[in-house]
Amino acid sequence: MTETRSTCPYCGVGCGVIIESEGARITGVRGDPEHPANLGRLCSKGSTLHLTATPMVLQTRRLLQPAWRPARGAAPEALGWGEANERIAARLAAIRAEHGPDAIGFYISGQLLTEDYHAFNKLARAVVGTNNIDSNSRLCMSSAVVGYKQALGADAPPACYEDLELADCLFIAGANPAWAHPILFRRIEAARQQRPGMKIIVVDPRRTESAEFADLHLQILPGTDVALFHGMLHACIWEGWIDQAFIAAHTEGFEALKALVRAMTPAAAARVCGIAEADLLQAAAWFARSPASLSLYCMGLNQSSSGTAKNTALINLHLATGQIGRAGAGPFSLTGQPNAMGGRETGGMATLLPGHRDPANAEHRAEIARLWRVEALPEKPGKTAVELFEAAARGEIKALWIACTNPAQSLPEQALVRRALERCELVILQEAFADTATSAYADVLLPAASWGEKEGTVTNSERRISRVRAAVPPPGQARADWQIASDIAAALEKRLGLPRRFGYERPEQLWLEHREATRGRDLDISGLSYALLDRAGPQQWPFPEGALQGRARLYEDGRFATANGRARFVSQPFALPLAPANAQYPLALSTGRLRDQWHGMSRSGVVARLFGHEGAPALSLHPQELPRRGLAEGDLVRLRSAQGELTLPLRADAGVAPAQAYVPMHWGSEFVAGLGVNVLTQPGFCPDSKQPELKYAAISLQRL
Ligand code: SF4
Repeated sequence: MTETRSTCPYCGVGCGVIIESEGARITGVRGDPEHPANLGRLCSKGSTLHLTATPMVLQTRRLLQPAWRPARGAAPEALGWGEANERIAARLAAIRAEHGPDAIGFYISGQLLTEDYHAFNKLARAVVGTNNIDSNSRLCMSSAVVGYKQALGADAPPACYEDLELADCLFIAGANPAWAHPILFRRIEAARQQRPGMKIIVVDPRRTESAEFADLHLQILPGTDVALFHGMLHACIWEGWIDQAFIAAHTEGFEALKALVRAMTPAAAARVCGIAEADLLQAAAWFARSPASLSLYCMGLNQSSSGTAKNTALINLHLATGQIGRAGAGPFSLTGQPNAMGGRETGGMATLLPGHRDPANAEHRAEIARLWRVEALPEKPGKTAVELFEAAARGEIKALWIACTNPAQSLPEQALVRRALERCELVILQEAFADTATSAYADVLLPAASWGEKEGTVTNSERRISRVRAAVPPPGQARADWQIASDIAAALEKRLGLPRRFGYERPEQLWLEHREATRGRDLDISGLSYALLDRAGPQQWPFPEGALQGRARLYEDGRFATANGRARFVSQPFALPLAPANAQYPLALSTGRLRDQWHGMSRSGVVARLFGHEGAPALSLHPQELPRRGLAEGDLVRLRSAQGELTLPLRADAGVAPAQAYVPMHWGSEFVAGLGVNVLTQPGFCPDSKQPELKYAAISLQRL
């Protein structure tokens, strides 16, 4: 048996795994006791990873060879890599010549490795010449990114996992780590056992497992987080719980914020949020007066039309009370996907450039153009996830290259997404799995290597870079994602008569280019190398040349990443969700994760035992809602929103508040009568982060 150290591909906790293999077959997996994120522990998903790579799965579920559909709806016909690369390059060159580079779009994924991201980003910007590259991380972390940048000056989570053990108050908002980040939750449970005085507050419209564990559950009305945070800040100001010295020495903009929150008294905020004023005051007191307060937040804040405002309102609380830059204190976004962080570092999104640079900044574009040895990078702003598909539906985007993601399930307003895919002249789908909803729309299918078969790096929520290693070769003709992008880029360069910049042979070559783009920036990793990661294990950034180790916490000296070193209080008022519940659609629907499934289930859905927890999707309503509507558990109900409709069985769940509803996000058209829950969600997004409002849809329901 061979043992290979690697990283779990599911979530942003980034647990280390040891893959056991015999020959070309993965036979087992266990937690890596030396990985600092998990110290040997794995959750139900991580510990069954080997079951996603059985011979049966490889033969029946994986995409094994390149294929091209002669016509939409026709069966794909196999072809070799050489021919596939040349045909794709020819089609892209023709579309670019006829319609311009912005007629081509790339939609990639937080599941990709950093090296894959770098290859796609350079292909889009330096070869095709477009900023139309975005990632499904847009659905995941983009509000956290913009929140950090607006308030602290850089997209850098300032805390680390060790802070979970050092915090005196844990403020968990819009997150259910008991299910979505289980290994971190084990650490929280252990920390509270060690230090029973630790206070845990959970802010969530649902009574989740995390909320059950908390000392205080603020069961706010959906979308009212900003009102809560402003009300808490008002209480802190009124009670004298703010840190005047910290505000004066290290921040700016407090007076404007103070004026903004003046009207949001605790009583007013409690009314807006639908909670008791005493609970709000208790939360404010624990947050402000504990020696160290750490906030953990995730999709409940990010997936919102007020996503950035929610993030900055929470960071405001940290700045006003001086709860930042110290052990156990700070705002700490929990990353959803395994490498959403790495993707942000490489700038593989429409609104970013490598090394935390900005495509709207001419100097930043010139710096990357120099590093990539191209004359200039495109200036025109790129389209973000929802915008890409809206443009495709209008016929402006002619070719979409989709890698390692399943937009025909995961994007909001599925009817529009599917219209967009149908209208494109060329849909290239690069995937490990053969049967995702998007594959039905693909003209070209490119088989990608998956977990256990590819080499590279990922960055987890605490800025820690881990190596991902191959234990076995990819099945069939599958190839690493960076390699597919690089080979087609080389073919396209040739066709366009461009100097050769692609033709990478090893992922480390791509990583070294990425590393150079970080030199001198807030995320500087010029002191790291594959060799060091192999020798010393996973490391946190920044890790500049000459450093002996990475930095566990940021801003400990009170100097922030803004031009003048001061953190900024951001004054954004509370706003309702874009389309709140109304007489026609009276229920507020939220979507979310289950404990044992991951995203659209293309990987976790092949493991039978992961369905033991929840076997099928259902609509959850508060038990009081059933008799009031003449419904009974198990009834089939039709859910309607302004976007579409879906049929599901009904379940009573006291964790869901009255007048609200909940559906897990994992099941798509393969499993439910309809297109999955995103047939109901709407494409409106936060104006700053462009992250769509996946956590809120106004619906009605009717018994069938
Ligand atoms: Fe994998 Fe996340 Fe579970 Fe860790 S917590 S084993 S990274 S799914």
